[in-house]
Amino acid sequence: MSWRTNPHEERVNTVGATQTAEPVVSVRKPYRLVSRDFHPEDSVVKVGNVAIGGNKVVVISGPCAVESQEQIMAAGAFMAQIGVPVLRGGAYKPRTSPYSFQGMGVEGLEILAQARMRYGVMIVTEAVDHESLRQVAKWADMVQIGARNMQNFELLKAVGQVGKPVLLKRGLAATIDEWLMAAEYVAAHGNHDIILCERGIRTYETKTRNTLDISAVPVVKQLSHLPVVIDPSHAAGQWQWVAPLAKAGVAAGADGLIIEAHPNPAEALSDGPQSLNFPHLEELMVDLGNIARAVGRDL
Ligand code: PEP
Ligand code: MN
Repeated sequence: MSWRTNPHEERVNTVGATQTAEPVVSVRKPYRLVSRDFHPEDSVVKVGNVAIGGNKVVVISGPCAVESQEQIMAAGAFMAQIGVPVLRGGAYKPRTSPYSFQGMGVEGLEILAQARMRYGVMIVTEAVDHESLRQVAKWADMVQIGARNMQNFELLKAVGQVGKPVLLKRGLAATIDEWLMAAEYVAAHGNHDIILCERGIRTYETKTRNTLDISAVPVVKQLSHLPVVIDPSHAAGQWQWVAPLAKAGVAAGADGLIIEAHPNPAEALSDGPQSLNFPHLEELMVDLGNIARAVGRDL
């Protein structure tokens, strides 16, 4: 590993350049492995048997949190029925209040794995620290790193060493460069299976929970070869606004969506107001298919 001065950044770690047979070139951007310059073709990341980053737009859906076996079995069955190939659900929840539901932990992961076994859906769930990362890597098909941990660099280094793909959410107030640098941490530590997730950023606007930065899709796609997924749920904060943002994401060229849906949103233990019920999700899937085809993709 060597270090050298870069005119645009104080110091740049050129780990990638020294560990591969690539000739050492001048590093103009602070990220390298995740940049388009390094890898001009789009990357396709395999999440179990599901490819993200190819022609097919992939929908990931499920509740914010794993709450019970019954809830996750209902979600798994419905996702399989409507053609959603990846089920989401947090077993470790990074809640703003310490008094809010914190998640079911390992028991929640076991429930997710049961849904995978029964319904054939792949599983994505969040890790919040080293111990939960170890567990999530064991049980899930993809590790989610949440917005609040996007710059938890020690955790990112550890994610670099798990043998599972990672869904890296953009930080609440992170610039695109900071987000790509976070991805670079993961890649530099050995894991190149990274999917970037735009989930809204904090702005002066308070009507929505966050402001969906739709421009992040074309910008990141130009700068990086990594797949980009849109999370309209945490951007909107209200279920009524989720469908329009999801459609905009597909129209803008996102490779996938991660949408919160709950069998009974009114009773959800977290993020109920932004969760779609199942009939609304099914309706949205039809519209997303039409939009995907209109922009030369499939769903
Ligand atoms: C979530 O996906 O439920 C979540 C906590 O998202 P974020 O990290 O984007 O807030
Ligand atoms: Mn949530």
